Amino acid sequence: MRRKLAAGNWKMNGLSDQLAEVEKLCGAHPNPKVEIMIAPPATLISSMVVTAADHPLEVAGQDCHAKDSGAHTGDISAAMLKDAGASHVILGHSERREDHDETDDDVRAKARAALAAGLKVVICIGETLEEREAANTLDIIAGQMAGSLPDILTGENTIIAYEPIWAIGTGKIPTLEQIGEVHDFIRSKLEARFGDGVGRSIRLLYGGSVKPSNASEIFAVSNVDGALVGGASLKADDFSGIIQALE
Ligand code: PGA
Repeated sequence: MRRKLAAGNWKMNGLSDQLAEVEKLCGAHPNPKVEIMIAPPATLISSMVVTAADHPLEVAGQDCHAKDSGAHTGDISAAMLKDAGASHVILGHSERREDHDETDDDVRAKARAALAAGLKVVICIGETLEEREAANTLDIIAGQMAGSLPDILTGENTIIAYEPIWAIGTGKIPTLEQIGEVHDFIRSKLEARFGDGVGRSIRLLYGGSVKPSNASEIFAVSNVDGALVGGASLKADDFSGIIQALE
């Protein structure tokens, strides 16, 4: 059985006072039936770990460098995230791919570094609107999976987030059939590459405009094991609604 996961991605949002939302969230779900994760900006990782010290909330980074250390001003290594108290790191988010020209090779190298440092990885893939409209979605997904996933994955250390780029922050979501088609496709590709055992144990999140009002129907789709949530993870009440839909 794959454990359900509600993962929040705060992106470049949140000063210290935003931790009040985490306190509220932990208070609302003292014994969550599902796994809950939040990826705050790196500046809040340590303090979020302290805020959630008595709660099973997982704290994640939003990116890491592929190298262990060195002359890379402004970058953060996987070991630094781990040292700050993070258990996971999101890699290959479309905003990283777009804003920082990250390629599949970069994402794979970062994933190897993160796994070597003892972090678990959430690897993001997804098509643009043009690719969707040209009926290229599954080819794009297959290419991103082949390029971004290292060979050393297990169901324990890796989560994949399918995030259609045109659904991120837009309020638009694919049809449930489209979500199911991509998730089933990702599952079959994982089984083919990593074997049935590992392939079936890796959790698949849907991401892109998930809200309390659409979460239940998305979570009912086959091979959707949870969500990666941007905007709606910033408010405890909204994120709480999504967690409840998963429980
Ligand atoms: P959104 O972002 O929920 O605000 O659409 C999702 C994401 O980018 O992970």
